[in-house]
Amino acid sequence: RASPLSVCRYLSFTSASRTISTLVIAEHEGGSIKASSVNAVEAAKLLGHDNSISVLLAGSGQSLQEAASTASSCHPSISQVLVADSDRFTHSLAEPWARLIQLVQQTGVYSHVVAASGSFGKNIVPRAAALLDVSPVTDVTEISEPRQFVRPIYAGNALCTVRYTGADPCVLTIRSTSFPVDLQAADSKSNEAPISQVDLSTFEEESIGKSRYVKLASQDTERPDLGNARIVVTGGRGLKSSENFKMIEKLAEKLGAAVGATRAAVDSGFVPNDLQVGQTGKIVAPELYMAFGVSGAIQHIAGMRDSKVIVAVNKDSDAPIFQVADYGLVGDLFEVIPELIEKLPEK
Ligand code: FAD
Repeated sequence: RASPLSVCRYLSFTSASRTISTLVIAEHEGGSIKASSVNAVEAAKLLGHDNSISVLLAGSGQSLQEAASTASSCHPSISQVLVADSDRFTHSLAEPWARLIQLVQQTGVYSHVVAASGSFGKNIVPRAAALLDVSPVTDVTEISEPRQFVRPIYAGNALCTVRYTGADPCVLTIRSTSFPVDLQAADSKSNEAPISQVDLSTFEEESIGKSRYVKLASQDTERPDLGNARIVVTGGRGLKSSENFKMIEKLAEKLGAAVGATRAAVDSGFVPNDLQVGQTGKIVAPELYMAFGVSGAIQHIAGMRDSKVIVAVNKDSDAPIFQVADYGLVGDLFEVIPELIEKLPEK
């Protein structure tokens, strides 16, 4: 009979030797892998040294095949790329995607499933977790052990350490800004992970037809993607109208920056809601974040507090945005922005 001590030894041996294999749910567009999905691979790498990482891509046609070949060399830690090629996945609807993850999990039996916490991941992962009968851990910002994570709570005002004690797979969404990839280091270690096709012959068709693709309405813009831009210029309610908001766009153009907005600016109809930064918008962490006419509500700060340098312009010297700003200017944005636009060189 085992003594209590040997039982303890046995338990610690089994938990340390549990094999880790991760399925990363990746998003692609125009034949390229979204940067946030590469961040998800980087997060998966931190789950364990001998982690075998499979990247799952779904879609159809030429752009999927191009994305698969980009994925196979986009990060040195990827062991294989799984490709689900079918018309059902052309438009990234959540129901077929969730079923696909369930199917791939049945054949691969992964210990972890990881996706970036953008609108793509937030749409698909909870459904997939429900089908797998597990509870997902969302918005992870730090991985301390394979089953222990840090995530923000109370709109980012506190960080909570959570231990996942459920069954496999441990399903995670990660904040991509918390897992930056050193692209130069990644490029220097070349990788050509094998690409395999997912067998869809047992894919269940029923109960996936609850939503249908109608159309894609996207901004026809040359500007960088808000989630990954190096510089973000954000306007708040202080801009007062959509006409005035054009100043923010002009300044962003001069800086090669993405445009952001507060929820108040979105709700006032100045800009569409895909520009919203904050708790219920996008989470950004650019090298430079410029906020004009933004008060600095906690729900807004939750989406930009990890920016490297924060510059705020507000006419109210008591505005809370100044508490997180590295550089603050108490002034009228209607004077400051035109002056900046005038003094910055043409691109
Ligand atoms: P205001 O708070 O009205 O501030 C406008 C600022 O402009 C003021 O500080 C004023 O001094 C300044 N100003 C005015 N005129 C000028 C001028 N001429 N020159 C310089 N400064 C000027 N908000 C988000 O942004 N993102 C979110 O994701 C988000 N999620 C939310 C979720 C929930 C559940 C809730 C309850 C709220 C959420 N909010 C979010 C809303 C948030 O609480 C604030 O209402 C919002 O961020 C305020 O936006 P604002 O700073 O543009 O407007």
